[in-house]
Amino acid sequence: MILDGKMVSSKIREDIKNEISSFSIKPKLVDIQIGHNEASDIYIKNKEKACLSVGIEFECVRFEESSNEEDIVRKIEELNNDKRINGILIQSPIPDKFDFKDLVNHIDPEKDVDGLTNINIGKLANNIDGMVSCTPFGIMKLLEYYEIDLTGKNVVIVGRSNLVGKPLFNLMLNKNATVTICHSKTVDLKLYTKNADILVVAVGSKHLIKEDMVKEGSVVIDVGINRVDGVLYGDVDFNSIYEHVSYITPVPGGVGPMTVAMLLYNTVKNYKKSNIF
Ligand code: NAD
Repeated sequence: MILDGKMVSSKIREDIKNEISSFSIKPKLVDIQIGHNEASDIYIKNKEKACLSVGIEFECVRFEESSNEEDIVRKIEELNNDKRINGILIQSPIPDKFDFKDLVNHIDPEKDVDGLTNINIGKLANNIDGMVSCTPFGIMKLLEYYEIDLTGKNVVIVGRSNLVGKPLFNLMLNKNATVTICHSKTVDLKLYTKNADILVVAVGSKHLIKEDMVKEGSVVIDVGINRVDGVLYGDVDFNSIYEHVSYITPVPGGVGPMTVAMLLYNTVKNYKKSNIF
């Protein structure tokens, strides 16, 4: 069965739109872009479209690669202090001369809609409510929608990024799964994936996971986005695996739309906390 992220995300977006329609002041999200990157341009456009479709104001603040870190920090502080702004994120990747972790930690944790500040990462590890990174949060919502229980399940996450793998580890652990993280230095990946009741793959390598690497009847979540000659592929070889698993996310139409929906969700969550409506 397909885990239809497009359908589930559109329900979430519809709920958010209805909620916002009763607000006198609209929530606002700011995306900071440093330097130029074509893929980022597409992601930013998509975020803007998604925001506007539910009634969230959107602004992209652009800095040239030649900018000083101090100028960017000053802007972040200005946005932190602006009561009209409910969400701030820094579009990655950023040029190498900047320290992403350092910049992100200048964002007010309440407005950190990507859940990447040390405060929000710590809260998640401590199972305290905070801002949760949108992709892992979206995966949890998708599993919840299809009533896939995590208690006691053997979960394997391939990929240990701060954006996906690590926060998902904590979210799933908090739901009583037994969680293993695999990564580029893992010896014998198949040994782990083959035993996973729930397999999440977030690597960025087209069709890394083949038919012989998954457990019969398992749940497979494909986070990967690999654009080859203008066509999108996941990290999982969907066609060969589909018949062998109980649930699987497609690419596109699986995790991607859930990520965008949770960005809107996090922005509105902070808006409601700020009590300005
Ligand atoms: P990343 O580059 O930060 O991390 C990749 C991870 O994969 C690393 O932890 C690395 O150790 C691991 N890895 C690399 N080669 C491996 C191998 N052969 N075997 C096992 N592990 C290996 O990437 P990221 O930001 O986590 O993104 C991963 C993928 O997910 C990318 O394709 C990205 O575009 C996609 N992504 C999609 C969404 C979405 O909304 N659908 C959101 C974020 C990322």
